[in-house]
Amino acid sequence: MSADQPSPAASPNAQYDVLFDPVKIGPVTTPNRFYQVPHCTGMGHRYPQSEAHLRGVKAEGGWGVVSTQEVEIHPTSDLTPANEGRLWDAQDVPALRLVTEAVHAHGCLAAIQLAHNGLHSANRYTRVAPLAPTGAIVDGDDPVQARMMDKADIAAFRAWHVAAAKRAKDAGFDIIYAYAGHDMTLLHHFLLARHNQRTDEYGGSFQNRLRLFREVIEDTKEAVGDTCAVAVRLAVDELMGPNGMQHDGEARDIIEALAEEPDLWDVNLSNWSNDSQTSRFSEEGFQEKYTSFVKSVTTKPVVGVGRYTSPDTMVRLIKKGQLDLIGAARPSIADPFLPNKIKSGEIETIRECIGCNICVMGDNTSNPMRCTQNPTVAEEWRRGWHPEIIPKLPDPEPVLIVGGGPAGMEAARALSQRGTDVMLAEAGKTWGGRVTAEAALPGLAAWGRVRDTRLWQLQQVPNVELYLESPLTAKDLLEYGTAHIALSTGSTWRRDGTGRANRLPLPFLDAGRVLTPDDLMTQGASAVTSDGPVIIFDDDLFYMGSVLAELLANAGKEVVFVTPAPIVAPWSERTLEQERIQRRLIERNVRIIPLSNIKGMSQETATLGCVYSDKELQVACGNLVLVTSRTPNDQLWHDLNAVQDQWADAGIKTVTRIGDCLAPSLIAMAVYSGHDYARTIEFDVSPGPLREDIIFR
Ligand code: ADP
Ligand code: SF4
Repeated sequence: MSADQPSPAASPNAQYDVLFDPVKIGPVTTPNRFYQVPHCTGMGHRYPQSEAHLRGVKAEGGWGVVSTQEVEIHPTSDLTPANEGRLWDAQDVPALRLVTEAVHAHGCLAAIQLAHNGLHSANRYTRVAPLAPTGAIVDGDDPVQARMMDKADIAAFRAWHVAAAKRAKDAGFDIIYAYAGHDMTLLHHFLLARHNQRTDEYGGSFQNRLRLFREVIEDTKEAVGDTCAVAVRLAVDELMGPNGMQHDGEARDIIEALAEEPDLWDVNLSNWSNDSQTSRFSEEGFQEKYTSFVKSVTTKPVVGVGRYTSPDTMVRLIKKGQLDLIGAARPSIADPFLPNKIKSGEIETIRECIGCNICVMGDNTSNPMRCTQNPTVAEEWRRGWHPEIIPKLPDPEPVLIVGGGPAGMEAARALSQRGTDVMLAEAGKTWGGRVTAEAALPGLAAWGRVRDTRLWQLQQVPNVELYLESPLTAKDLLEYGTAHIALSTGSTWRRDGTGRANRLPLPFLDAGRVLTPDDLMTQGASAVTSDGPVIIFDDDLFYMGSVLAELLANAGKEVVFVTPAPIVAPWSERTLEQERIQRRLIERNVRIIPLSNIKGMSQETATLGCVYSDKELQVACGNLVLVTSRTPNDQLWHDLNAVQDQWADAGIKTVTRIGDCLAPSLIAMAVYSGHDYARTIEFDVSPGPLREDIIFR
């Protein structure tokens, strides 16, 4: 072909074609390299329809393999009250078959992560003694000990795993896991020297500790390997140094010893807080330095994770021979259609995971997950919400949305999809509201994706008008006379101390020395007016107090972190961040005073009171930052209600508060609120969700 001849019609995204190669995994073949690794949903066996629909949507969105979360194989592995998968006996098969049918409907493979949780399960429901390689107290805080398994127990466990694998095959799964990860399963416990102090052939030496894992892989292959692939999930590093499994130590030895035994190696970090690190503490690809060796020791396909959302990074991983399959949990939650969007070249429309772990919070609180970026997650069945499709409005009427934070932007975006004309007015000079403010705080830059994804979409559509620097009043709104008005005007941090520990305003505050998160977000550390130490009083208990402590410590301020809780940011245990947050404050020399309330404030000191006793402590205090609670910015709502008699003449039919203006909460809830408004705008009373606890009987 000469140089001036046109080249053959190339795919618009030919550079990503490699991501759509089929990959053979033992006896099955995945249609592409996108692999939704096992992840919890907070639904599992308790909400099987919801679970199946969530997984089905991922297959529809192009994930070549869609996995369940961990699935308990036997009543001796009972994680109650967590809503994990369950396959104790044949009665559990129909619920799991819903998952495989939903996934197969889109030509994808369904994987199941069989799990026996050993000393990680306290067996609260089944009330049987937990099992462990060596007798030990269980994980968590149950005052319960696991008993040491004898040879008969080990044989029984192997039989349970085989039986569960057969049930999984019966339920239609294509890939069946032996799971040795996260310090959460018996197979992992047997491998780890600190859990396995046996002196028989299942403990002691490396080969002995490996024995059960090898046997279970062999058992599973023999039982179901004719038609199902047998995958292994192995944590290759625990980030504990020599006190735990290391990628350049025993993990490598394990993979070398078993290299060709399983059909697939799914490798990651342990424990869960290391595996699912948030963007505050790690970048995309943070696991690569631990997992990249695996392909050099096996010819079997390898899948790994690292919050991958960039197709260029994915291609690099494949081309460098680091991975065969791009594993994802959170990126597939934030955007179930990520693979299809890459395929069709709609890269800009990908809702990139922001790495906040609000999704993880669902599982950690035993309820269906939510996602900051994807308001439809876990609502696929309950509310019939599809992540990409929203029905057009039968009779579209214009909507004016006041406030361009996450609630307003999501409402505008979703309404534009419904075919109505939308005006979005924002008082400030930038879009994003609190997301823009918070993304400027230490470690939270990725949160700006909540704004960026939506702004890009709003700028593409013809039926949305965007107005910055447009603070609107009730008078303005009457003049415009738009049929529907949504108020997404956000909230303001309180200056009076009202919160959980103090349900009424604190009368003793020196207003001139009190700061709020809003002050620090708008002015940075220059908001500090005094040379003395800055006390942060955190009664909010999530991320804000600690992020502000970091901000001030980074600016060279002496910071004292006071909280009524026993630890810093206890709610962040649910997002798996608590230990890292507390460690970071300690490293920044922030003085931490737990179990304390603010009792008084004088010229240069604050009086702290013990939450249990009358004991008090005087602490030097220049400024006091109150991170307690927020007040909705609902003045406009009250102003409009005061002129409700004029609405009809003005052409206004409805006025609705959404997001923080209605009730200050997580960013995820603001996005959800905006989405919900757009989904249900045509109803006087929104249709109620389906109730699985009634229907699935
Ligand atoms: P949410 O989390 O509910 O979306 P935010 O606080 O993030 O709330 O965003 C609210 C946005 O509303 C802010 O950017 C703020 O500037 C804007 N806003 C507040 N009052 C008005 C108003 N009267 N007119 C226009 N924009 C407003
Ligand atoms: Fe990502 Fe946050 Fe959504 Fe989880 S909740 S998938 S971390 S954006």
